[in-house]
Amino acid sequence: MAAKFLAKDKLISWLAELSESNRTLVPHREGQAVVFREFDGDTVPELERRPTVPPKGAVFPQCEPLMTFKYEKNPEDPGKVSLNVKERKDETPTVVFGARGCDAAGFNCFDRVYVTDKVTDQNYLARRKNTLFVTEVCAKPATTCFCNWVGGGPADTAGADVQLTPLVNGWLVEGVTERGEALMDSLYLTDGADRETEAQEVKKAAEALMGEACDLSGAPEKLLALFDDKDFWEAVSDKCLSCGACTYICPTCYCFNVTDENCGLQGVRLRTWDNCMSYQFTAEASGHNPRPAKANRFKNRIGHKFGYYPSLHGGNIACVGCGRCIKSCPVSMDVREVVRNVIAAPVAQGDK
Ligand code: SF4
Ligand code: SF4
Repeated sequence: MAAKFLAKDKLISWLAELSESNRTLVPHREGQAVVFREFDGDTVPELERRPTVPPKGAVFPQCEPLMTFKYEKNPEDPGKVSLNVKERKDETPTVVFGARGCDAAGFNCFDRVYVTDKVTDQNYLARRKNTLFVTEVCAKPATTCFCNWVGGGPADTAGADVQLTPLVNGWLVEGVTERGEALMDSLYLTDGADRETEAQEVKKAAEALMGEACDLSGAPEKLLALFDDKDFWEAVSDKCLSCGACTYICPTCYCFNVTDENCGLQGVRLRTWDNCMSYQFTAEASGHNPRPAKANRFKNRIGHKFGYYPSLHGGNIACVGCGRCIKSCPVSMDVREVVRNVIAAPVAQGDK
């Protein structure tokens, strides 16, 4: 489909149209933060500033009921109890509007884990199949952005269904997938052919603003070689508070916990985001904890994203370079600096 143009004064009308048949989430300013909220006609979209949090919850909610259950006694035979289970799946058609390319690409990391030949997470898949992403080119990447280190870029379309490029008085609207092109079938969008050159300039200028990329190709082997280097991991994690902000705000962190909440003979099974930087994450019922110190947990976080995950998934790194963990860390830990240190660290003879 040919590119179209969305004039600034037609943005709200297009969003209203999209929200007639979709739950439409838009970035919205709340205090100092920009968060995704459902568009309700009055929601003012914030497309200038990069969202403070990714739209991870659109496909993988922070807390979701997986099923309800109920034990039922047979009054004729009280020793006999049956269990009724009702699974809950959310298949609401959803459009995430105005996310950045890196945020949409984050779900590609989820897919390799949750939708495989061996196992499929049906709750995840139901939302994933029903969610489309209208992303916006990062015309002014932040100083903390490093998507170009991990195979992305400010105009990357991996994970997008439609891409918007900000122009004077509006956006160029380009379809990336067939389902995305269907969203562009709107009277509020006009022919965009005469704005395509301008959009190319915006994309080129954004790419030129990115710093030089660090070569991460040797990171998995280097992380393996440093696995037993306690001094290295203690030094790089020294400042960390184990608060977990970096995991909750990360568009590629997919760990969760499952709990049952009972009330008498019935209850609900909940899935909730979990955080590998917390002591409790690996604490075992016996009292043993295989990652007792923050250095162990920090090594796991970095090792997983830049070593174990790429080793298991064709070299794909489990980080999209959004830089949010750098911005949100209360003690200014910088994942780029840590990875650079990993690559530059001397490996002692005999270390594996
Ligand atoms: S946000 Fe910073 S202090 Fe908190 S767990 Fe992550 S690295 Fe540690
Ligand atoms: S590790 Fe940090 S930079 Fe990478 S995707 Fe997660 S929050 Fe973004």
